Amino acid sequence: MATRPTEILSLTREGLYCPAGDFHVDPVRPVARALITHGHADHARSGHGAVWATPETLRIMAVRYGEDFCETRQEARLGEAVRLGEVTVSFHPAGHVLGSAQIAITQGGCRIVVSGDYKRAPDPTCLGFEVVPCDVFITEATFGLPVFRHPDARDEVRRLLDSVRLFPERTHIVGAYALGKAQRVMALLREEGFCEPIYLHGAMEKLTELYKREGIPLGETIKVVAAERPKLGGRIVLCPPSAIQDLWSRKFPDPVTAFASGWMRVRARARQKGVELPLVISDHSDWDDLCRTIRDTGAGEVWVTHGQEDALVHWCGTHGIRAKPLHMLGYGDEGEAEPDPAPATAADAPAADAAGEAA
Ligand SMILES: [Zn+2]
Ligand SMILES: [Zn+2]
Repeated sequence: MATRPTEILSLTREGLYCPAGDFHVDPVRPVARALITHGHADHARSGHGAVWATPETLRIMAVRYGEDFCETRQEARLGEAVRLGEVTVSFHPAGHVLGSAQIAITQGGCRIVVSGDYKRAPDPTCLGFEVVPCDVFITEATFGLPVFRHPDARDEVRRLLDSVRLFPERTHIVGAYALGKAQRVMALLREEGFCEPIYLHGAMEKLTELYKREGIPLGETIKVVAAERPKLGGRIVLCPPSAIQDLWSRKFPDPVTAFASGWMRVRARARQKGVELPLVISDHSDWDDLCRTIRDTGAGEVWVTHGQEDALVHWCGTHGIRAKPLHMLGYGDEGEAEPDPAPATAADAPAADAAGEAA
């Protein structure tokens, strides 16, 4: 008889724990051994003993937390099966941000896939999602309601460029999370043939430089110097979401404020945030892709970590798939969880790196 899924992974205070391999996945508190799906702050925290992750995720963690973010680190190679205690573990692309991976854990004929955050839409800054057949699929449900259907991100970026052509005197300020979303927007702008320099808020700089070092073509980027802001009419400026309503953004000439997030599908939310040009660009799966992915994995059982858990659990039930919500705390703070309503930063100080994350 196959090992029961709950014997392979159990829910602890720290997060999902695999006793037979003695490790946690994306733990929210410091643990002895952590396997990390990707670099967003709610999944990748500092202070663990040993960390296993893709080389890109390890480098992202080092940039955010410093080289001493853990005691020892081990690079996971995509697709390579590694024995850890009584279980076999392998990492597979998740399509979410640079370095993001799903983690497959197999024991006694039962395979569980922890997908972390993932999307199926193409993204020029990271490897595409790979379907990993499994018995239990663990998924998030940030956009787990049928109302959430993300349009093609390329069309959203074309709308941004249309606006730049229409208002050549105005600065276009685009709020985007500092890891993943910002670089995806830049890469999409380049794909559309935009070859002017892209201006960056200070909080975007370190991770953007890292993406460039990893070989992602983002073109010329220039850090915004406070005194130069009045001269940046007609330019595109990327900043953390918290900065779009800040005093910081008001020093640009007649700014058009945009925000790249899956939540921009909800027009009331865009209005409430004072966003003139909502761009529905998400690094998470929309409803259709959540359902499609669950079906593609062939899983007979689904565990939902966080987000709109109830609707997805219900959908599984109507399709003959056992499902349960895990109600996990500590995830989703990274960004596309909920847009931060309060502008956090002082006028001209570059926002802390933690100011913005996914979505
Ligand atoms: Zn994420
Ligand atoms: Zn997340």
